Amino acid sequence: MRQEFQAQSANVGSLQVLLPAERSPSTVRRRTLWSSLVLLVAALLAMLVWLAGIYEANQVQARLDRDVAEAVSDVRAVFAHNAQELQALQYTHPTPNTWMIDAGTMLREHREILRIEWRDSTLRLQAHVDTPFRVPAFDHQGRSDVQSEVAAACANARRFSGPAYASSYFVPMVDGLGLEVMEFCLPLQSGANVTGYLIASYALRDVLEGSLTRPMTKNYQVSFTEGDGTRLAVFGSIGRGSRIFTARQLMNLPGTSMVLRMDSWRATPDLFPNVLTALVTAMSIALVSVLALLGEDMRRRFKAEHDLADMLAFRKAMEDSLVTGLRARDLQGHTTYVNPAFCQMVGFSADELLAPGTPAPYWPPECSEEYRQRQLVRHAGNLPPREGYESVFMRKDGSRFPVLVIEAPLINAQGAQSGWMSALLDISEQRRVEELSRAGLERLQATARLATVGEMASLLSHELNQPLAVISGYAAGSLNLLRADPQGAVPIGSEVRLALQRIAEQAERAGKVIKSVHDYVRRRDQVREAVAPQALLDAILPLVYLQARQLSVRVQAEVEPGTPSVQCDRTMVEQVLLNLARNAMQAMDSPKILERSLLIDVRLANTHGTSKKWVEFSVADLGGGIGPEVQQQLFKPFFTTKTEGMGLGLSLCRTVVEQHGGALEFAANSPHGTVFTFTLPAAGVA
Ligand code: ADP
Repeated sequence: MRQEFQAQSANVGSLQVLLPAERSPSTVRRRTLWSSLVLLVAALLAMLVWLAGIYEANQVQARLDRDVAEAVSDVRAVFAHNAQELQALQYTHPTPNTWMIDAGTMLREHREILRIEWRDSTLRLQAHVDTPFRVPAFDHQGRSDVQSEVAAACANARRFSGPAYASSYFVPMVDGLGLEVMEFCLPLQSGANVTGYLIASYALRDVLEGSLTRPMTKNYQVSFTEGDGTRLAVFGSIGRGSRIFTARQLMNLPGTSMVLRMDSWRATPDLFPNVLTALVTAMSIALVSVLALLGEDMRRRFKAEHDLADMLAFRKAMEDSLVTGLRARDLQGHTTYVNPAFCQMVGFSADELLAPGTPAPYWPPECSEEYRQRQLVRHAGNLPPREGYESVFMRKDGSRFPVLVIEAPLINAQGAQSGWMSALLDISEQRRVEELSRAGLERLQATARLATVGEMASLLSHELNQPLAVISGYAAGSLNLLRADPQGAVPIGSEVRLALQRIAEQAERAGKVIKSVHDYVRRRDQVREAVAPQALLDAILPLVYLQARQLSVRVQAEVEPGTPSVQCDRTMVEQVLLNLARNAMQAMDSPKILERSLLIDVRLANTHGTSKKWVEFSVADLGGGIGPEVQQQLFKPFFTTKTEGMGLGLSLCRTVVEQHGGALEFAANSPHGTVFTFTLPAAGVA
C-alpha cells in the first residue's frame, strides 16, 4: 500500500509531463511508434497476400505439370495397347475376310482409330476396314494409293524393325471440317522377312478424348502441338479468366514427336486467387480492424490517463494546501501515507514517517504502550468516536503537543477496508487560548471579590465598630478602676479579669469578621476537591449575615440530611453562592417588601434515573421578581439595573457552574420573588 502511494505520487510527476498533450516528447514518440506499427503491419499484410498469390500460382502450375506428365503417359499407354491389339489380329493367320471381321470388332472398341489396313510387303492394300463411327475419311481422296505418310511410317517401321509413326497430316472432311490424322505402321514379320504391314490411322483429337480421364478434360484444354506451337488437335473446354497456366511436355514416338500441351484458366485470379489468399486477406482485414480498435482503445486510455493525471495533480494540490494533517495506516498499523501538513506538524520528513517499524516516531515514549493498545482496539473493528479524540504527539525536537484525531476506515476500490485514514489537528493554540481565558476569568473573579469587599466596607466598619466600642468601653472601665485605687487597697482583680475577658471575646469577634473577609478575598489554588455543602455555607454565611443584618433580612440556610459532598473548586462556588445571596437580599431592599426572607437550600437533585448524581443549590428570595426585559439580558456581562452594580455577578456565576458541568437556572418564587438554582456534580461519582 505504501508502495502504491509512492508510485502514485511518482506518477503524478511523470503524468504531469503529459499534460500539454499536443507537443510533449512522449506524445510524439507514441505517435511515431503507432505510425510505424501501422505501416509495418500494412506492409506485412500486403506481402502476405502477394506471397499467398504466388504460392497458389505455383501450386496450380505444379499440378498442371503433374497432370500433363500423367496425360502423356496415358496417351503412350493407349498407343502401346492398340499396337498389341493390332498385332493380335495376325495371330490366327487370317484370310482377308476373317481379318476384316476382327479388325471391324477392334474399330468398334477404339473410336480413335479411323481405319485399319492390311498391306503386303510392297504396301499394296490387302484389306481394310473403316471406323463405323464416322463417314469414311479417305474415300473421297482415294485411299487405295499408297500415301506418302503411310510410306513414311512403314519406312520408319522397317528402319526400326518395329512399330513406327509418321508425322500427322490434315484430312479435310465432307462436313467442311477436317481431322488431324497420324499414321501408325506395324510391320508383319516372318522370321527376318517382312511379310506385310498393318496400318492404323489415328484421329489425334479422338486419341486425346479416348485416353484422358474426364476430370482432366473437364478442367483443362488439352492439345497436341508441333514443336513450334502449331496446334494439331484440341480437346477440352475453354475456361474463363484472364490468367492462363500452361504446361507442355514433349511426347517422342518412334518416327515422330509431338508436344502435349495443357491450358488452365483461373476464374478470379486478380484479387482472391484462392482460398488461402482469401483467408490471408480476411485475416489481414481482421488484424487491421483489431489494430484500429486497439488504437481507439489506446486513445481512450490516453484520455483516461490524462484525466487521471489532472485529478491526481488536483488532489495533490489540495492535499498540499491543507492545514489539517492527513495520515493513512494499513491494517497492520504501518503508516502508508502522510501529507505535508502532517510532516510539518510533527517535524519528521515523509521518509522517516513511512519507514517500516513501530512505534511511530511521533508517539511520546511514555504513551506508546497506551497508544499501541488503542490501535489494537481500533484494529479489532471498534469504530473511533465520530467527533474524534484527543491525543498527545511528540515533535522531532521532543516537545509534546495536543492533537485532535478524527479517524475513518479507508475503503479501497473493491469495497474492502484496507486501513484507516486520520485527519489530525494541532490543538495546542486552542489550548493556549482556553488557558488564557481561564486565567482571565480567574482575574475577573478576583476583581469581583475585591469589589464585593469594597461594597461591604461600610458594613465591615459597622460590624467592627461594635466589638471595638465594647473593647474600648471595657478598657476605659478597667483603667478607671485602676486609677481610683492606685495602691490596690480595694480588691478589684475579679472585675478587671471580667473586663479583660470581655475585651478578649470582642477582639476575637472582630478577628472573626476580618478573617471571614480575608478568607473570601484570599486567592487559593484552583483545585477541584470534594467539599461538604455545609462547609461552603459556613464560609459565606458570616458575610451574608453582615448584609442581612443591615437590610433586616431573615436568613435561613438548610442542607438536607444525606446530601453528598460536591466535587468543585471551593473558592469559586463560594463566590457563586455569595453573589446569588447578595442579589437576593438586594432584590428585597425596598420599602414595599415587608417580609424579607432569604432561603438557601441544598439537596440531592432528582436525576431521573441516570447514574450520575448531582447536588442542587437554590437561593430563594421574596423580592420583586425579574421582569421579562431584564430576563433576556440577565446573564449578559455588564448588564445591571443597580446604580453601583458591575453587572458581572450572574455571568461569572453561570460560567463557573458550567465549567463544573452543571447548569444555572432561575424561576419565579411564590408568592413573589425569584429562585436561582444551580447544580454541581456529587463527589466520588464518575
Ligand atoms: P449586579 O449585581 O452587579 O447588578 P448581576 O449580574 O449579579 O450584577 O445582576 C444583574 C442584574 O440582574 C441585577 O442588576 C438585577 O437587576 C438582576 N437580578 C439579579 N438577581 C436578582 C434577584 N434575585 N431578583 C431580582 N433581580 C435580580
